[in-house]
Amino acid sequence: MTSYLLENASQVITPIPGVMRGTALKDLKIRTDVSILIENGYISAIGTRSELHSLLTDEVFRIDLAGKSVLPGFVDSHTHLVFGGSRETEFAERVAGASYEEIAARGGGIQSTVKATRDIDKKELLEKSLFNLQKAVRHGTTSIEIKSGYGLNEETELKMLEVISELKDAQPLDVKSTFLGAHAVPGDLSKSEYISHIRQMMSKAGKLADFCDVFCEKGYYTADESRDILLEAEKFGMKSRLHVNQFNDIGGIRTAIEIGAASVDHLEVFPGDDLEDLAKTDICATMLPGVSLFLNIDYPEGRQIIDAGCIPVLATDFNPGSSMTLNMPLILSLACTQMGFSMEEAIAAATQNAAFSLGLEKTGCLEPGWKADLIVLDSANYQNLIYFVGEPIIEKVFKAGAMIWDRSRSWDGINT
Ligand SMILES: [Zn+2]
Repeated sequence: MTSYLLENASQVITPIPGVMRGTALKDLKIRTDVSILIENGYISAIGTRSELHSLLTDEVFRIDLAGKSVLPGFVDSHTHLVFGGSRETEFAERVAGASYEEIAARGGGIQSTVKATRDIDKKELLEKSLFNLQKAVRHGTTSIEIKSGYGLNEETELKMLEVISELKDAQPLDVKSTFLGAHAVPGDLSKSEYISHIRQMMSKAGKLADFCDVFCEKGYYTADESRDILLEAEKFGMKSRLHVNQFNDIGGIRTAIEIGAASVDHLEVFPGDDLEDLAKTDICATMLPGVSLFLNIDYPEGRQIIDAGCIPVLATDFNPGSSMTLNMPLILSLACTQMGFSMEEAIAAATQNAAFSLGLEKTGCLEPGWKADLIVLDSANYQNLIYFVGEPIIEKVFKAGAMIWDRSRSWDGINT
């Protein structure tokens, strides 16, 4: 049995166990001047030195946190982390004034990532994805969701899902995988032909993926098409998530309510009348402010979504076209400065609520019996996580009780 004692934390901040929404969302628990005892990957006790004294044996390995603050590791519940190629040249053109149409006409946009993902060798794709996961860890992420969706044909969609499966074994983070065949329509097929092709992929995709997702948006998939695809996916064991209301409200939230999806993601376009009904469900409202920053579009109305009583979640949407960041602390800062979240609400949305949206058990809280996924800040006060916008402030990252990153050491990969 491996036991660790993380001694001398100035603050340990955590959501209260149970999904958090409404006015309760801001009621985080803050313990001061405590230590955390970890056994077999789970927290077994939190308390002052004298409270924990009787539990400590000579075998306990001690780590001095030297008066730093601790919070749960982030759960990044919406990413497109596995992809070939890179689009920095396109980004440079866009910030210099080129339009999407001009970029697409030159072979840019999602189609360029599809081509690069089809072309890249599977081993190379795995290595590139592992490298990106290591970056996520440096930003305090200890669990992550990753989607397919840059193959748009069976061979490459399955290659992506296989890479995500291999990532689950190749590194310590919890990884949930999502089949997003319906991300776009490939240029060589009509939409109805491609939807039949997606249906044919389902039996194989269902063996690899935990969820199925659809880009429900004007010019992509209608609400009816999204529902049909997701209901078919459920037959193969994949639960539903949806991209909705990014540029237009075309009824995706209503579809999510109808089929009982786990999450509706994006919400840059305010849900209007659907918000009240969404708040009566356990469907998470996942907001992705990195996209608004990257594309210079409206931010979701976070304050109104919280006040309506929905379950808010914050994630990066890491992808090469519209959110090239894995920086969860930056996402929390944007939620607070641009979307009306309080700091405590942002922390709850990026930890326990996000874990709930992915069905991760005992994840996102720092209480006895919960997984010891936690981050140590280079600060005595947790508020500096959000106050220092974009600053690297995370000093140590623990996954299931094991230290997987320490900024003070020379570092060349995730320690397992
Ligand atoms: Zn996305």
